Amino acid sequence: MNALMAVHPGPVRRRGPSLTVDLDAVAANTKLFAARTEGALMAVVKADGFGHGAVGVARTALSNGASWLGVTSIDEALPLRDAGLRAPVLSWLNPLDADFATAIGSRVDLAVPSREHLDAICRAGIGARIHLQLDTGMARDGAAPSAWAALCRAARHAERLGSVSVVGVMGHLGCADEPADPDNAAGRTRFAWGIEVARASGLRPPLRHLAATAATLTDPLSHHTMSRVGAGLVGIDPSHTTVLSPAMTLTAPVVGVRRVRAGTPVGYGHAWSAPRATNLALLPLGYADGLPRASYGRAEVSLRGVRHQVVGRISMDQVVVDVGEATVAVGETATVFGPGHAGEPTVAEWASWADTIEHEIVTGIGSRVAR
Ligand SMILES: *Cc1c(COP(=O)(O)O)cnc(C)c1O
Repeated sequence: MNALMAVHPGPVRRRGPSLTVDLDAVAANTKLFAARTEGALMAVVKADGFGHGAVGVARTALSNGASWLGVTSIDEALPLRDAGLRAPVLSWLNPLDADFATAIGSRVDLAVPSREHLDAICRAGIGARIHLQLDTGMARDGAAPSAWAALCRAARHAERLGSVSVVGVMGHLGCADEPADPDNAAGRTRFAWGIEVARASGLRPPLRHLAATAATLTDPLSHHTMSRVGAGLVGIDPSHTTVLSPAMTLTAPVVGVRRVRAGTPVGYGHAWSAPRATNLALLPLGYADGLPRASYGRAEVSLRGVRHQVVGRISMDQVVVDVGEATVAVGETATVFGPGHAGEPTVAEWASWADTIEHEIVTGIGSRVAR
């Protein structure tokens, strides 16, 4: 203990760019989703909880109405077990040579999109809990409808042999962010068909799940017995129908301030020049830290509660802010984005400045930003 303390004399000091996650916001969002569906709520914490920290988001969600966890790969599932989380966890996208044996031993449920995956899981061990995964209209993950009946029969066979237990059927909607899109009804119909085929094969999966964030908010017919919600838990609503609580704040210290004359070019390519004499502030983060370079010309940050334009090209490691005649000192903290309560830019604004979606902003914050 003493030796440890000598090596780590105090808490880590965060002097550089810093990302803060408001778990109270995650709690409030989770409660809202739990109240929106009569089914169970799976907290999807893939991609490190959409960049918000998988374990913290998972624990918060499980204390506020979620009963399941969902991730993409087994590699994302195991750290949740290592952190002591015991709730059921589903992993839905794995290569054929994934470590299915460890998944089974760690009670990680597995989505099965193909015969090959079923066979690999059966070879890896006894007792896997599986969710048969149907492509409900995205031509992405999940079995094609033409392969579905054979997959259901094979899964039933494996179940009778005691190799696996089929606990779920899952699909995913590609256009749920546009509630009026007729492809949503087509996806629901295909999912209902998939359940019928599974039943006709003798399967009785208690869990049937199709809806993610947008469908949970806008399409009760898609709810079935469980919703898989990721973006919504961290305050992102792809359907733009519901007020959620954004959970992420990104700040950076001012590391330089300089007075420049009218006509002074700034940054790579001299893409921007000062139209007048002004003050420029330098922030030590750039596109390697997740600030999209494409937001050039539109992006803003907040200093002392006032918004200022990011000027010149966004570099890998730094950006320049035109603060005009505002008084700004080295060492102050700029807010790159936050929930917007104090007028600062939001993740939604950064996404629109970069012509992308909020998901890409929050999952793209680089590893050298302190959490
Ligand atoms: C990412 C993902 C989700 C969660 O989607 P959100 O829109 O973020 O709620 C659900 N299911 C699958 C299969 C996913 O890949």
